Amino acid sequence: MPRTSASCIEQLTSLCSKGLIKQALETFKSDIFSDPSLFSLLLKACIPTNSLPLSKQLHSLIIKSNSSDDKFVSNHLLNLYSKLGDLNSASLLFSRLPRRNVMSGNILINGFVQKADLGSARKVFDEMPERNVATWNAMVGGLVQFELNEEGLGLFEEMYELGMSPDAYTLGSVLRGCAGLRGGNEGCQVHCYVVKCGFECHMVVGSSLAHMYMRCGRLVEGEKVIRMLPICNVVAWNTLIAGKAQNGQAEGVLEQFNMMKVAGVRPDRITFVSVLSSCSELATLGQGQQVHAEVIKAGASSVVAVKSTLISMYSRCGCLEDSLKAFRECGGGDVVLWSSVISAYGFHGRGEEAIEIFEQMEREGLAANDVTFLSLLYACSHCGMKEKGMELFDSMVQKYGLEPKLEHYTCMVDLLGRSGCLDEAEAMIRSMPVKADAVIWKTLLSACKIHKNADMARRIGQDVLRQDPEDSASYVLLSNIHASARRWEDVSELRTAMRDRKVKKEPGISWLEIKNKVYQFHMGDKSHPHYRIIDSYLKELRSEMKLHGYVPDTGSELHDMDDEEKEYDLAHHSEKLAIAFGLINTPEGVPLRVMKNLRVCIDCHVAIKYISQIKNREIVVRDASRFHHFKKGKCSCGDYW
Ligand code: ZN
Ligand code: ZN
Repeated sequence: MPRTSASCIEQLTSLCSKGLIKQALETFKSDIFSDPSLFSLLLKACIPTNSLPLSKQLHSLIIKSNSSDDKFVSNHLLNLYSKLGDLNSASLLFSRLPRRNVMSGNILINGFVQKADLGSARKVFDEMPERNVATWNAMVGGLVQFELNEEGLGLFEEMYELGMSPDAYTLGSVLRGCAGLRGGNEGCQVHCYVVKCGFECHMVVGSSLAHMYMRCGRLVEGEKVIRMLPICNVVAWNTLIAGKAQNGQAEGVLEQFNMMKVAGVRPDRITFVSVLSSCSELATLGQGQQVHAEVIKAGASSVVAVKSTLISMYSRCGCLEDSLKAFRECGGGDVVLWSSVISAYGFHGRGEEAIEIFEQMEREGLAANDVTFLSLLYACSHCGMKEKGMELFDSMVQKYGLEPKLEHYTCMVDLLGRSGCLDEAEAMIRSMPVKADAVIWKTLLSACKIHKNADMARRIGQDVLRQDPEDSASYVLLSNIHASARRWEDVSELRTAMRDRKVKKEPGISWLEIKNKVYQFHMGDKSHPHYRIIDSYLKELRSEMKLHGYVPDTGSELHDMDDEEKEYDLAHHSEKLAIAFGLINTPEGVPLRVMKNLRVCIDCHVAIKYISQIKNREIVVRDASRFHHFKKGKCSCGDYW
């Protein structure tokens, strides 16, 4: 067999790298026929062209030139078919290979995994007479990739028992599997193994290990692993930051982000998404704006995930206008961004505009997905647009062919319940094809409270407490309903149940940001450094409010106290403290943005309306369910929350 000259290989490679495979074939036909190894070059170059006809043409030339016996050439061909997703041709070729080796099997397994056909991948795996680490990696990794975590871990165990030595890839997949299962104990065992194999300081393995601990809620252990890594690169920092974000430690996220910058590591898009989400959660607008500036500087402002996080960050911080501006600046394009802006409108109680945006999106030919519909239904339910919501729910199924999920049903139950159709709402829960959870029943329970239907509340309340006996919010909700129906026996029964089960009421916390600093307030917290000033300010404010007609609503308090005590407690709800602090410490006319972890109570809602009028201030309050824009004695929610 004549050796092909170096210049020929060079020219052929050059043509291939430009994707000119046909030209390469014609120019060097005779060389290729005399040296089958040249086929490998062409086959590799064919992958990025994604052309099946060209692949078939090469295949027939290989047969014609009698090179199909060459195991390198045939593996390259097998790889080409697998990469192009033609698994039929790949399987056929594999079954006829005269000199099939481990590599051939591995290629086919990867091909099937790529097609999400794990059954066929497993069949090839099981039938292989010989396997190497890459074979196990392909199968374990494939299973974990499709969240068949238990099977993935089981296979790893088998591999371990057979005495195979896993490599960094195997361990990375296995740890992802443990993370997916939230299996901290399994993860710990793998950790021991990682140490034994000396992979603890391996960047990929170390990051996966930390990620696993974080997903299992074991933050301290996760951080420890990260600190052990030889260098803390952006992946390691992102693991740390995302771990805090997933475990609800938004303050920790911002802290880590600053430490990351001090350490000289440049944030990437993944960092930005985590950090901006935390700013949304904490509603720290100042910090969010700073991060936005950094996004622009880092050139990450064109990434869809970052753009949509910016839209919701501004919205959740109470700045609908800035949220819309962020949307306009990115010029639409992706359905994710449209959904974000629809949900921003909904969150601020601007249902009509949410629908308008949706119609505009339809005109531009973008297909709504289930997230879009969730945003729309949310907007309708928060704006009392029952008919429109029902219509959209129908079109989601009929026109768009989307299957409603539990979240969609929850929105519908909210919509029906708020508009007073309590029986319809209950019927929907009982007839829907998905399994009801505590949240959807609680949604109906809130509707019972709004419409003062104590009988239904009592019946449903039992269902709710059975599903989630530790949830303090349900007890409070139910007690409130019974209290307003003056069913004191039911109230005390509930309180006993709460005590017996050691359920603690979640304390109300409000916070606001002034000059990039966050101030936090707990209900009646006398240890607060500014308590005395706030207290005397509130006293004055209260008498001024009473002159304007304010009457404290002591009916919404549950405690066994006399009215005076109740009034004192009411007057020191965390949002009132935060608003007083804001009024004292900001110049006149500056809008206040206060966030609260629970829902605003009826008395605070009334009081804030008075305050907005007396002090002539715009006050925005984000509570656990929505935004309230108080202005000139009115609230944007129309007393509907
Ligand atoms: Zn209150
Ligand atoms: Zn309101």
